[in-house]
Amino acid sequence: MKLPYAEPFKIKMVETIKRTLKEDRIKWIKDAQYNLFKLDSDKVFIDLLTDSGTGAMSDKQWAEVMTGDESYAGSRSFTYLKDTVKELLGFEYFLPTHQGRAAENVLFSAVVKEGDVVPGNSHFDTTKGHIEFRKAKAIDCTIDEAFDTTVQHPFKGNVDLVKLENVFKSNSKVNIPFTLITITNNTAGGQPVSLKNIKDVSNLCKKYDIPVFFDIARFAENAYFIKTREEEYKDFSIREIVKEMFLYCETATMSSKKDGLVNIGGFIGLKSEDLFRKASTFNIMFEGFITYGGMSGRDMAALAQGLQEATEFEYLKSRISQVAYLGNKLLEYGVPVQEPFGGHAIFVDAKRFLPNVPQSEYSAQTLGVELYIEGGVRGVEIGTLLADRDPETRENRYPNLELLRLAIPRRTYTQNHMDYIAASLKNVYDRREEITSGLEIEWESPIMRHFTVELKKK
Ligand SMILES: *Cc1c(COP(=O)(O)O)cnc(C)c1O
Repeated sequence: MKLPYAEPFKIKMVETIKRTLKEDRIKWIKDAQYNLFKLDSDKVFIDLLTDSGTGAMSDKQWAEVMTGDESYAGSRSFTYLKDTVKELLGFEYFLPTHQGRAAENVLFSAVVKEGDVVPGNSHFDTTKGHIEFRKAKAIDCTIDEAFDTTVQHPFKGNVDLVKLENVFKSNSKVNIPFTLITITNNTAGGQPVSLKNIKDVSNLCKKYDIPVFFDIARFAENAYFIKTREEEYKDFSIREIVKEMFLYCETATMSSKKDGLVNIGGFIGLKSEDLFRKASTFNIMFEGFITYGGMSGRDMAALAQGLQEATEFEYLKSRISQVAYLGNKLLEYGVPVQEPFGGHAIFVDAKRFLPNVPQSEYSAQTLGVELYIEGGVRGVEIGTLLADRDPETRENRYPNLELLRLAIPRRTYTQNHMDYIAASLKNVYDRREEITSGLEIEWESPIMRHFTVELKKK
């Protein structure tokens, strides 16, 4: 008999989670103004709000926590992290920050100005926020295949070179500080970018003399997809692929809460000494001295160890297989999900799931509320609420995809949890015809409204 696949780890510590009653959940979500961010975590059974900072650390990472060096300047833990980043990613210069958006804030303070345009593949919401906050524009050049959840394409995160070149042709070079490749493409569904596409973007950018920056929150998951889907690289190790990817970028921002396998942290990796000096000033102002940047020594040490573990094939295989296990269960039940499956999450297509709820009534958010009521499972809307209003017209921006994201925390839940999630969603799917209206906004903030929005039933 062929032996089945099994996770390459065992569990050393457990945390109790509690089941709750449906009648309580109906009340709690109403009290939370139908905003899943406003629910207390003890009212959630399985929490798929995000894979950001919610994973489990290893015994070796906890050992680093005990021996971290808390010196203000020149900490040993800083050096360990800086050297690890250089060894794995090839960056000569390094600045720690307290999370990914802080890295964006520091770096963009040095390079983005009013009137600029920043082309890329579906900028992450905080990235877009930091660009628009500086009165610049983020231009999405993702390939069209990404916007149809039924199209099979191995690298739906790719940049469309024609769209990118159009941006270069219709804007002056002085207004394009960099092209940003987000790996994996979170907003388009955790979809990977191929090495070929990275190289092609790099060549095009060279032709127009525009630097390439990476947003690398899930670079290791991206490398796994390159190894398993891009023929040329199937015999490369994950670390060899990572090295190769990073040859094509000038500077990168990292949210360590993802592929850093830690609960908080971020950094900037740079190849230019000049940009490092400029960014250092902003790092000191916003984050802290350049050898800690808002992180404790112990957290930097745990991150260095986490980066080593995240770039191991066996870890990545268990991670991505678990996400695919949930995706396949849902497909079996007929639930419309984005294919191929992303690296960190399964994205449920709300337009296809709830055809009776119009996008203007926030159908993905409506689905998220229904799933919470059904099983105490918390997902997150990646749709119209997240897309926010156009900064000029103040009209709702309706994205092509209206998705409910089920993000899977790393090394945290078991396959039984995946079965439970799939069954909860199936029950909602079975009564989808009865769900005929959605939600409306009672209050929203002027930027990044999805975190604090207050909704009521339509
Ligand atoms: C999470 C994330 C960020 C922001 O990082 P934080 O650590 O949450 O501030 C930026 N880009 C991408 C692609 C992300 O997934």
